Amino acid sequence: MDIFQAMAEYGHEQLIFNYDKASGLRMIVALHDTTLGPGLGGMRNWHYASEEEAVADALRLSRGMTYKNAFAGIDFGGSKCVIFNDPDVKSDLLLRAAGRFVEMLGGRIYTGEDVGLSPDDIEVMAQSTRYLVGRPHKSGDPSKAAALGTYVSIRASLEHVFGQGDPKGRRIAIQGAGNVGSELARRLAEDGATLFVCDVRPERAERVAAATGATLVTPAAIYDVACDVFSPCALGLTINQDTVHRLQARIVCGSANNQLAAAEMAEELRRRNILYAPDFIVNGGGIVNIADEFEDGGYDHERAFARVERIGDRLRQLFQRAEAEDVTTEIAAEHMAEDHIKALAQQQRHFVPRR
Ligand code: NAD
Repeated sequence: MDIFQAMAEYGHEQLIFNYDKASGLRMIVALHDTTLGPGLGGMRNWHYASEEEAVADALRLSRGMTYKNAFAGIDFGGSKCVIFNDPDVKSDLLLRAAGRFVEMLGGRIYTGEDVGLSPDDIEVMAQSTRYLVGRPHKSGDPSKAAALGTYVSIRASLEHVFGQGDPKGRRIAIQGAGNVGSELARRLAEDGATLFVCDVRPERAERVAAATGATLVTPAAIYDVACDVFSPCALGLTINQDTVHRLQARIVCGSANNQLAAAEMAEELRRRNILYAPDFIVNGGGIVNIADEFEDGGYDHERAFARVERIGDRLRQLFQRAEAEDVTTEIAAEHMAEDHIKALAQQQRHFVPRR
């Protein structure tokens, strides 16, 4: 990989390689765009097959955070930290070293828990850096906010397709009955939606079905459910060449990150007249909730959740723009986020959080 060429293609500002002799920590920090404010993005701890793969992931994910944060309407740019070690060999020494490297950046980035790290790991890291978000005594677990964002996104999508957003009587298939999926099911059941739910851990799906009256479906069969909304709330890449043709939905709208296995999937959904609500917008509730930590007086649950609800309005604008430009909703979302960043760059406004 030609690293500078990759940075130029993605539009990155900085790529930082950190190595700690004592613990063996290898960590990459990718800063994509800080026009709106310091970089904000999680720290991932993963066993990459190669250095090249770790760099590629850091570049891709940090760029995604720029768009996600811009779309969420928060004053942060995009960054991502990637630890390139065996995630099972995780010592306090290594975590504190990771924190030290974050601290050295002096507030250029803020980070928090992501794949391969637990809330306890973040607490160890907090011994060596102030620049962490989502800790229990601040905004805490973001999954309820992520579920609310997904819920308002489903309503906005229903409104766009059917002319009214009420989920009552709509058939909604939820893939994954974890933190987000179960809370989403609770909200939709309250509205009188007809739910279908699956999980690779059947006891989770059973719990949700018992609480909401949802019909249990096997993970393999969820793609074939005739429904209005297919809501991926499990892991990424579930919309791929094997599954996209099976979807019987009018809308795809869920919280999972990286739902589409390839960019062509967005085209394919559009060709099949299935409205795709881009995942990084739908699941922005988590990051909006976290950003509230930086308000004067600290995190306020009511204010944060009121902001999460605005995701629905942005999505409505996006659907209109995608139609006007005759492009996929993914492409229209990138255009909207880029316009927002450019407009604020012209005002030369740069947010410096208080800590
Ligand atoms: P979770 O781990 O609590 O739940 C995910 C569930 O999906 C688990 O119960 C798991 O068993 C199940 N699952 C995995 N593969 C499956 C498959 N193939 N079919 C059916 N079920 C499967 O995670 P979560 O916090 O609920 O997050 C769900 C998704 O939303 C993830 O992709 C996550 O990255 C994304 N997301 C979460 C948040 C948040 O705040 N929790 C924020 C933004 C995005």
